Amino acid sequence: MRAYRVPAFLSAPEWQEVPEPTPGPGQVVVEVTAVGLCHSDIGMLEIPPTLAESLGWTAPFTLGHEIAGRISALGAGVHNLALGTAVILASSSCGNCWYCVRGHSNNCLYGNVNRGAGDDGGLAPYVLVKTPRDLLELGDLDPVAAAPLTDAGATAYHGVNRVRNLLEPGSTAVVFGAGGLGSFAVQLLRVLSPAKIIAFDPSLDKRSLAMELGAHLALPGVSAETVEEVRNHTGGRGADAVLDFVGTDATISAGVSSVRPGGAYGLVGAAGGTLTTPGGWYHLLPKDGEIFTYEGSSLADAQGVLALARSGLISSPVETFAFDDVEEAYRRLRAGTLRGRAVVTFD
Ligand SMILES: [Zn+2]
Ligand SMILES: [Zn+2]
Repeated sequence: MRAYRVPAFLSAPEWQEVPEPTPGPGQVVVEVTAVGLCHSDIGMLEIPPTLAESLGWTAPFTLGHEIAGRISALGAGVHNLALGTAVILASSSCGNCWYCVRGHSNNCLYGNVNRGAGDDGGLAPYVLVKTPRDLLELGDLDPVAAAPLTDAGATAYHGVNRVRNLLEPGSTAVVFGAGGLGSFAVQLLRVLSPAKIIAFDPSLDKRSLAMELGAHLALPGVSAETVEEVRNHTGGRGADAVLDFVGTDATISAGVSSVRPGGAYGLVGAAGGTLTTPGGWYHLLPKDGEIFTYEGSSLADAQGVLALARSGLISSPVETFAFDDVEEAYRRLRAGTLRGRAVVTFD
């Protein structure tokens, strides 16, 4: 079968011919119907081989970690799943480690290797699922809309859940970046909290999308005025919570400084910024507040966001591309010109 793969670390992805996977004992094969493309796919191309090896990654591997499909083959001993079932694939986790047992599968000790991240992913007609606990039933949800829920949707959900207790009536939540994850965060904040939502994004198109999805105010990209703007829109108090889906020096510094005493700043964006401390930590950090960071999402996060989609409470803004046009989709992702998520479809 034809697959879109990373041939070696620090090299450009390419089309390769690979054998169709067959399931070993306890494994499942899924016929892919839709795959969302993620910024982290691009980041993976820049990972130094030493870091990749320390994560347990091997190359070549097939890209694509936001996968929807249909179960097409069951390995020996898999009795709780049925051929033909429509599924989405949540992030891979072992189910047995200290974190998984406590429901924090996003911190799974064996979760560094995932489909499309150091192991074969969904940009191919079939994908092997080594840990079928990751499969969640899709029901009658559209696979194109559901594919981005597995990562972009579930990761945004994890962040919103982290700050929900701060978002009482009259509160304000700030979202930096209204792209793939931020556009889900805006919707989730609207559905799960009474907070006023302020989205920041340099793209006019993404600001208009944020407004359509429930933001109360959408402002241009983060700048030297951002902290002041947040104060002006919160009666001088500052934001109760900031979720930063960008992660540059500018957004980190503005985010941390925009939070009210007792509020929270969450860093999710992987732009690689650092926090400098002019005036010292005590001047900069939110007093009595919280700064947190995380990667990815748990099985429960994926279930939660799937349930909200099933209830019609959130939607997935997507642009679709044929499998053959995957390179064009990545070009648009790099250029930042997508409205919502790029989803590659197979038919
Ligand atoms: Zn991702
Ligand atoms: Zn685990």
